[in-house]
Parts: sequence; C-alpha cells; structure tokens
Amino acid sequence: MSAAQADLNRRYVLRERPAGDFQPNVLQREAEPIPEPVAGQALVRNRYLSLDPSNRIWMGEGESYMPPVKLGEVMRGLGVGEVVASRTRKYPVGARVLGLLGWQDYALISPTDAMVPLVLPRYVPAPMTKMLGALGVTGLTAYFGMLDIGRPKRGETVVVSAAAGAVGSIAGQIAKLRGARVVGIAGSAEKCAWLTGELGFDAAICRRDGDWRPQLADACPEGVDVDFENVGGEIMEAVFERLNHHARVVLCGLISGYGADGRAAGSPNVSNLVMRRIRVQGFNVIDYLPRFPVATLHMGVLILLGRLRERHTLVVGLDAAPAALVDMFHGRNIGKLLVQIDGTP
Ligand code: NDP
Repeated sequence: MSAAQADLNRRYVLRERPAGDFQPNVLQREAEPIPEPVAGQALVRNRYLSLDPSNRIWMGEGESYMPPVKLGEVMRGLGVGEVVASRTRKYPVGARVLGLLGWQDYALISPTDAMVPLVLPRYVPAPMTKMLGALGVTGLTAYFGMLDIGRPKRGETVVVSAAAGAVGSIAGQIAKLRGARVVGIAGSAEKCAWLTGELGFDAAICRRDGDWRPQLADACPEGVDVDFENVGGEIMEAVFERLNHHARVVLCGLISGYGADGRAAGSPNVSNLVMRRIRVQGFNVIDYLPRFPVATLHMGVLILLGRLRERHTLVVGLDAAPAALVDMFHGRNIGKLLVQIDGTP
C-alpha cells in the first residue's frame, strides 16, 4: 500500500549528526498523519526528490551557505511535486512546484518560507525530472559556473572532475559548445565511455586507474586553462600542477571532503596561483537566482536542439533514498540522482 492510500506522510528526520561519511542510521523514518494547510499555506504531494552532495553538508555543523538541519527536523531536500490542497492563491491546486520540500511524501509550503518554492510555468513542457536536472539547480550550476567563471575560449583545455555526474556532465558539454577541448575525470570505465562516446568529451580519465595521473598529463599536453572543480583532494592537487598562466579555477564543490566537514585532503600548490596569475573563484548557484529564468530558457533550447544531453539515475521509493545517497558518495550514479518518491509513475 502506498503512503497516500494509508493517509500517512512518510518522512525521514535527522536523528544525529554524521561523524565522517554519511551513514543511513543518522536518519530516522517516521510516519505522521498528512498535515493540513492553514491559511496562507498549501499542501504539496512530493513526486521527485533530488539527492545531492550538499545533503551531507546540511547534516553537519560546518560552515555552509544554509543553516544545518536541526536534529529531529525533516531532512532537507530539493524536490518537485504538485499542490493537492491550498489556502493561498500563490499555490493553486494542480500547480507544479519546485522547492526544499524535504525527504517526505507531503510538504506544507508558504510564500513566506525562507527559500520560497517556485511555481513551474505551465508552458514549460519538460517532465518534472528535468526540473531537478539539466533545467534545475545542477544544470544551472554548470551553466553559470562554466560561462560566468570558467569562460572557456575556443581551443582552450578544460578539465571537469566528477564529470559524469549531474553538474559535471552538463559543465563539460557547455565547454564543448564554447569550442574548448574537454577532459573529464570520472569513477568508472562505463562513465568514461559515456563521456567520450555520447557527450563529445575529448578525453576521459578513470580516477580509479592506478595511472590516472600520467593519463591526465597525456590528456592535457598543453596544460589546463579551466579547472571546473567538483571534487578537491588529490584530483584538484594534480590538476593544479598543470594549470596554465591566466587559468581559471571554478570552485564548484569539494565532495571528497564532505565527510570531514568540507576539509578535502591534499595540499594543492597555491604558489603556482601567484606565479601563473591564476584566478580561483568559489561560487554558489543561489546567488544567480534572478538569472534562472533566462538561463533555463537557454538550456531548454539547447536540449530541444539536441545540443545538450542529460541522463539521470532514478531510484524508486522514498525508502530507497538513504542507501542511494550512500551510493552517490561511492560514485554509483550516472548523471542526476533522483528518487521517485511513491513508486507510481
Ligand atoms: P554528482 O552527480 O556529480 O555525484 C557526485 C559524484 O562525485 C559521484 O558520482 C562520484 O563520481 C564523485 N565522488 C563522490 N565521492 C568522491 C570522492 N571522495 N572523490 C572523488 N569523487 C567523488 O553530484 P552533483 O553533480 O550534484 O555535484 C557535483 C559537485 O557540485 C559537488 O561537489 C557538489 O557539492 C557541487 N555543487 C555545487 C553547487 C554550487 O552552487 N556551488 C550546486 C550543486 C552542486 P565519480 O565516482 O564518477 O568520480
């Protein structure tokens, strides 16, 4: 029986803060009666939940761009769903919304929420899954990170780490569209074959190969002009050694350090940054919110024209979410990792 039939709201709350890597036992599965909206609120039936590396950051108390999830609170997560009951004109019944709906079947939302849920325009024919992928936060992270910060020029060499993931796979394709030579670093031969065979990357290196460092050197004979950094640690260290004069480093994420409160291991050569006049810039896609509509339109056109491809790994059922998040930190997802919450289409 689905949760909807049982009139229950299944939810995962944060029971304790993880020490080190994410372990599912820090979350507790509960069920409560489906909440009812009061004046000013709407009730959303959540359909898809996005699993993101930032989930681990939000569970901890390290410095972040958002407060940590409180103990006992529903685990924070980005999701899409549809309004099923409403006491606010902002969210009419039937509207599709995107927001921090949480790891649960139903969410109460309000226009006064700290991160105001967005109503997805009806004229956007994209399926909900795309609104969490290429047309959502991860796609736009790739878009702004690569175009605003990386700014690859024709013929330059761009390296993307976690290249077969949600952000990396889009970032690399955007750099290709700008005429750059793109080298991806990913965690398996299957992922590397997808990057070069289907997405048009010029080279892909499996980070689990014993000789990945010489492979990286071979793949970048003229050095690296843009490092789109998703991982940190020894990968970033190796790419930093190859940065050219006036290179740009797009510090998008450092997933290898998320189990250690963001402190990725390794000590990249920062002296090179001075000697070679390199620009390193951290960023958060939230700062680009006002530019989302235009960027989404641009990305939508690229997808319609077949110039940008995306893929997702879909996990079925809310109960599968904790194990799927563990899998993400072992690199078992290709493209955007999503949970179809109730298991029905
Ligand atoms: P992905 O879909 O790329 O999934 C994470 C991938 O990271 C895994 O599949 C795995 O790929 C790789 N990975 C996991 N653990 C390690 C490790 N210890 N060492 C090396 N690689 C590892 O996730 P996203 O696309 O959602 O996120 C990618 C990065 O972008 C993250 O750092 C994330 O925090 C960041 N991000 C930043 C945003 C911003 O606004 N700045 C917004 C959204 C995301 P593989 O095994 O193939 O290497």
